[in-house]
Amino acid sequence: MESVQKTITYLKTLLRNYQYQYYVINEPGIPDVEYDRLMETLRQLEIENPNLLTQDSPTQCVGGSSISSIFKPVHHKIPMLSLDTVSDESSYLVFHQRLKKRLNISKGITLCCELKLDGLAVSLLYINGRLVRASTRGDGLVGEDITANVRTISIVPEYLTGNKIPDYLEVRGEVFMSHAGFKKINQTAYREGHKIFSNPRNAASGSLRNLDPCITAKRPLTFICYGLGFFKGRSMPRSHIACLQYFKAWGLPVNDNTRLCYSSGEVIKFYHNAEMKRPFFGFDIDGVVIKVDDLELQKKIGSSSRAPRWAVAFKFAAQEAITKLNNVEFRVGRTGVITPVAQLSPIRIAGVLISRATLHNVHEINRLGLKIGNNVVIRRAGDVIPQIISVAKPDVDSNIIVKNITIPKQCPGCGSKIRFISGELALRCTGGLSCAAQRKSVIRHFTSRKALNINGMGKAIINQLVDKGYINNPADLFMLTIDQLISLERVGQKSAQNIIDALIISKKTTFARFIYALGISKIGLVAAENLASHFVTLNFLLAADLNALSSVYGIGQTAASYLKEFLDDANNREVIRMLVVEVGIYW
Ligand code: NAD
Repeated sequence: MESVQKTITYLKTLLRNYQYQYYVINEPGIPDVEYDRLMETLRQLEIENPNLLTQDSPTQCVGGSSISSIFKPVHHKIPMLSLDTVSDESSYLVFHQRLKKRLNISKGITLCCELKLDGLAVSLLYINGRLVRASTRGDGLVGEDITANVRTISIVPEYLTGNKIPDYLEVRGEVFMSHAGFKKINQTAYREGHKIFSNPRNAASGSLRNLDPCITAKRPLTFICYGLGFFKGRSMPRSHIACLQYFKAWGLPVNDNTRLCYSSGEVIKFYHNAEMKRPFFGFDIDGVVIKVDDLELQKKIGSSSRAPRWAVAFKFAAQEAITKLNNVEFRVGRTGVITPVAQLSPIRIAGVLISRATLHNVHEINRLGLKIGNNVVIRRAGDVIPQIISVAKPDVDSNIIVKNITIPKQCPGCGSKIRFISGELALRCTGGLSCAAQRKSVIRHFTSRKALNINGMGKAIINQLVDKGYINNPADLFMLTIDQLISLERVGQKSAQNIIDALIISKKTTFARFIYALGISKIGLVAAENLASHFVTLNFLLAADLNALSSVYGIGQTAASYLKEFLDDANNREVIRMLVVEVGIYW
């Protein structure tokens, strides 16, 4: 018993600490899944040992039990509570039956089903139709005054319009950030070296609970209301859904996906429907909320100190999980950009088995402070490619052995030198024409319309030719035989002959097209034309130094250095020699 008591005390302290980090300083110490797991452990222990349950336990309180001292306190006339949660159909059915029992009804109950927006609960106070105060939920009884910040959210009306507005009206809803807005602020933060937000909720919270409203104003925050708080001066409808309709008529934003359901089957259908549409809403939802629609019945059922008994959050499977980073592989893309890809111990997130995650670029490895062997937090939102969002805090007693990630100096595809492109924060292979990993795309580019314009040489044919080992570089195209072409899928005698003819015709080109066809980074058709008219002959171009290259009209320092590196590479020079001397390309 003593050890159970110790565990409970330990868990309470730990959870309160995480709540502080999450709600007050907006720096979650652990991923939500881990937090929820710890909370569930505590809840189970308290159920098994009811004598050890105290009213101040995190299981009994609204999350942000400690509120910051930087905003003025706001006392809620009606507590702003959290929600009890169910996460599968059978536990929803238990809630549904309990509701019927509490209301002592055997027939159906009218339930209002809404999306559960993943943001921050906010209370708006309108006096005589004018916004006078906005506050956070805080500990449920006392929140923080964030009026100046909320005023910067354009969708929140300063004045309500229409009839029958109570003199004193408190409306509750969620402030959140769309996926597009989240992407945009993180891209800006990335460029300017500021803090990257781990998810839209974290970004919305950090933006809203900011001391400088000018910063909040720059953040793409939005708001949807979902509930009535305290009101006086006029009556309000008796059903929740009718209140939402009034809000809408007064100019407040409400969600159009809200529906009334009359049976548990309809609720479950609503849940699955929302889950299916989840990737397409353009903002994060973490479940649906089911509420008794009749406000009198809500009052009758009442609330606990933490959550109403007339509502429940029916949550979706988590989008985050923790797993081990086993290795980082560097892959050469079609254009020579080398991307680090994380190899993970396989883990299921929302039903999908994840064993890889993108790391975007090497800067990301440094930003996250990643090491092989780390436990990492993976997020997979909707159909977005899984990402590593942070290194998980190690367990206190864990003894993880980690290893630094070695950034390669040579291309894993061809062994050529790798160049770091600071503007793009990317690594790029300098191998060009000789890099096996880039072979197909290099040859495709060479044959494309604006380059050598080789008719009939489509993607499918090039892929087969490379896969069969018939061609390794653009010069090999001109050595192809009719028999080799006929051996490919969907190539007959006639089309093989057409390709051979097109290859012969393509040998007569222009100097500009030839330069462009080499597929040098940053050298598009216009740059190629400038180079062609400046140097006139291939020999002059090959002999040019960096100064001469960058003095060409329209060729900047970066393009000049790519060009120099390309032309200095022995493999590239050999392909150019073959094209001109052996194949006989001319202009
Ligand atoms: P919650 O977010 O799960 O549910 C309650 C909230 O739902 C309400 O306060 C309201 O803001 C919101 N909501 C959204 N749509 C709604 C709608 N249509 N109707 C009514 N309410 C709606 O509960 P919570 O107590 O705010 O937070 C718990 C969550 O926070 C858990 O998922 C937990 O993992 C996470 N958390 C994480 C950490 C951490 O360290 N990672 C710490 C604390 C809490």
